[in-house]
Amino acid sequence: MRVLITGAAGFLGSHLADRFLRDGHQVVGLDNFVTGSPDNIAHLTGNPSYEFVRHNISNFTYVAGPLAGVLHFASPASPIDYLEHPIPTLKVGALGTHNALGIAKAKGARFFLASTSEVYGDPLVHPQPESYWGNVNPIGPRGVYDEAKRFAEAMTMAYHRFHGLDTRIVRIFNTYGPRMRPNDGRVVSNFIVQALRGEPITLYGDGSQTRSFTYVDDEVEGIYQLFLRGDAMPMNIGNPVEFTVRELADIVLASTGSKSEIVRRPLPEDDPKVRQPDITRARAVLGWEPQVPLRDGVARTIEHFRGVIAAGH
Ligand code: UDP
Repeated sequence: MRVLITGAAGFLGSHLADRFLRDGHQVVGLDNFVTGSPDNIAHLTGNPSYEFVRHNISNFTYVAGPLAGVLHFASPASPIDYLEHPIPTLKVGALGTHNALGIAKAKGARFFLASTSEVYGDPLVHPQPESYWGNVNPIGPRGVYDEAKRFAEAMTMAYHRFHGLDTRIVRIFNTYGPRMRPNDGRVVSNFIVQALRGEPITLYGDGSQTRSFTYVDDEVEGIYQLFLRGDAMPMNIGNPVEFTVRELADIVLASTGSKSEIVRRPLPEDDPKVRQPDITRARAVLGWEPQVPLRDGVARTIEHFRGVIAAGH
């Protein structure tokens, strides 16, 4: 198979390219480096099964040759990134999704949308099954991401229903691991980098808010299986084991042996109070189950960031 991955220099996009390449497929990677990094794809230089195109999918895009799949992973995805790039975030969810769907339709390819647990907003149903419609503030600071992804889901279902396109939608929950940017702003990378540098751990609010953290290898395997064997309805892919953010801080401190103190910072506006995927559907349809417990994944991620910090980044 030859597949196109947008956001190919990003954290998830680059791991996903590796997963396809591992099975002998060919990958065309597309990225404009707004939040992605050339470092994430440096290891693919010279790989005859990999092509890279520097381009913004929100603009008209032409890709030569056949494609069996189009996987749309381009988007700023960290709260600080989409606050810094609110309009590109809206555009890549809306115009970028439209362009990616158009490529899939023209090539007769399967389309795969990277959606998000943010479609559930600050959820009033817990844990969140795919049938929950969510509790999203459209005009809050996170609205640029949440509504772009909700629009992207609607657009994907319209192409599925109106054009008969073969489509998939994954709702990704908080994922962490190697290749996150040290200054990405998300909680796992922030806490690990702060702990390794001996800087204060920035706990937003009282730390009682919860998240369910998925190690990147688990997330990518779920995505890959959904692409190959799933169906058109949205599917949660995430680790259902839930932690408070305060518990995460304690795990990072214990795992690094750091003496960093924990300092309180204001809770960002509209920060969801709880988040946990209901993965009944992923288990039933794909037989998928996350394998890596948080402590193990954090340990692997600490090793990665030790290397990054030692290299002077
Ligand atoms: N958070 C925190 N300290 C940080 C970064 C994040 O306490 O330095 C909290 C944040 O308020 C949220 C949770 O950790 O409750 C997860 O934040 P993240 O930005 O990773 O992703 P989100 O799930 O909010 O999209």
